[in-house]
Amino acid sequence: MIILILNSGSSSVKYQLWDTENGGMKAKGLVSRIGIDGPMLEHYVGGKKYKFTPNEIIDHKKGIELALNALVDSEYGVLENIDSIEAVGHRVVHGGEAFAKSALIDDEVIKAIRECIPLAPLHNPPNLIGIEACKEILKNIPQVAVFDTAFHQTMEPYAYIYAIPYEMYEKYRIRRYGFHGTSHYYVANRAAEMLGQPIEKLKIITAHLGNGASIAAVDGGKSVDTSMGFTPLEGLVMGTRCGDIDPAVVLFIIKQTELSPQETDNLLNKKSGLRGISGVSSDFRDILEAAASGNERAKLARDVYVYRIGKYIGAYIAAMGGADAVVFTAGAGENSPILRKMVLEKLNFFGLEIDDEKNEAAVGVEADISSESAKIKTLVIPTNEELVIAQETERIVGKIL
Ligand code: ADP
Repeated sequence: MIILILNSGSSSVKYQLWDTENGGMKAKGLVSRIGIDGPMLEHYVGGKKYKFTPNEIIDHKKGIELALNALVDSEYGVLENIDSIEAVGHRVVHGGEAFAKSALIDDEVIKAIRECIPLAPLHNPPNLIGIEACKEILKNIPQVAVFDTAFHQTMEPYAYIYAIPYEMYEKYRIRRYGFHGTSHYYVANRAAEMLGQPIEKLKIITAHLGNGASIAAVDGGKSVDTSMGFTPLEGLVMGTRCGDIDPAVVLFIIKQTELSPQETDNLLNKKSGLRGISGVSSDFRDILEAAASGNERAKLARDVYVYRIGKYIGAYIAAMGGADAVVFTAGAGENSPILRKMVLEKLNFFGLEIDDEKNEAAVGVEADISSESAKIKTLVIPTNEELVIAQETERIVGKIL
């Protein structure tokens, strides 16, 4: 099936064109700075990059049209014409409690995604704009929504309820939702395949360590806990997000400084994390470099980051009553042997032991880096959210065709 995969952000659209029967991803790209100055289209095909800088890209519809034009271009396109596209798969950030699975998009689904806007005011509106734009451009082609939150809908209430008055949950749906679900789902299932065992029998901890970072406890293939919460701000230390914090700190900042709630939100989401502690960068590579050259605050940022990941792994081993494997994925998880070594050092007593040579060699590739005597396996698995979106889209659209 020929599938267009879209990830629409506030001023950008990431796209991939998949042919599920013939080798998977054919082309990908990014339309950025939509509706603002300096718009750009970066298109990748066959290992080559093509860059275009039109004068303006007024809106998402225009942006998606540009991407489609690139996909059918005689020089750098991969399709004869637009009609070859059989389905569109959208990454949608928040499905609230309405979606525990991917869904074929119809008016009801659009309404339900719209109802989740208060839960994800920055993400769901552009996701919807992408869906509406495709409806206009691609007419009756079936579209599927794949939700970041869906995989975590299996959590029990004791894992997702916050200890605040229950009416807050009833009235505003304040609870833990969790994000990066598509990534946690993919790497947990890949881990089971690599271990040659049915996922139903495994307890797996999946650590997605990118700019955003979260960790999940996956018991028998189901997410039973995850570190991101009501929003993607909770949990691990991230590039620019604080992760876990005493909620009273937030109120204290608002009272003690001139910052408005909106500015405080910005401080916690954009100016905190590795960037906030180090004052150097939000990028983990820069932090490692600065720490290695003696920058004390970069060292501190690195240590807080590493410590928090280790603490969560320990917590999730306890939450599941054991673990069979820990999986590292996303930018830092896939590519940083030093990070994995530092995180696991303190966890040796659980039986988490890695082979240094295997760890060093595992950069951006799938690998089992456990030592011979390890009781809990450590795996490195590059994530592939687009593959899951393509598979989900094919599965759902296949049923209706
Ligand atoms: P996003 O969440 O934006 O998709 P990525 O998954 O690409 O992000 O992860 C980006 C993070 O991964 C950055 O902090 C980057 O420094 C880190 N990273 C990428 N490669 C390495 C590496 N070789 N060593 C350490 N960190 C890395």
